[in-house]
Amino acid sequence: MAQSKHQNDPFWMESRYNGKCSGCAWPINKGDWIFWYPKTRAAYGSKCGCAKHRAADFECALADEQAYVEGYVRR
Ligand SMILES: [Zn+2]
Repeated sequence: MAQSKHQNDPFWMESRYNGKCSGCAWPINKGDWIFWYPKTRAAYGSKCGCAKHRAADFECALADEQAYVEGYVRR
């Protein structure tokens, strides 16, 4: 699937902190893979499964979101 990058896109990264999943409050440890939303500063853990779920949702929504963003920018 083609990835389109724009500023607020969520992405996979290694957690730099201990924290908890924004979806289910499962503990996230430093070094765990998370799906990170820079815009809302939400982190979804891979151990609890939220990250996978979110990533799938994001890829599904990408086409719709892109259309929305382009429609919004074009006046
Ligand atoms: Zn979770």
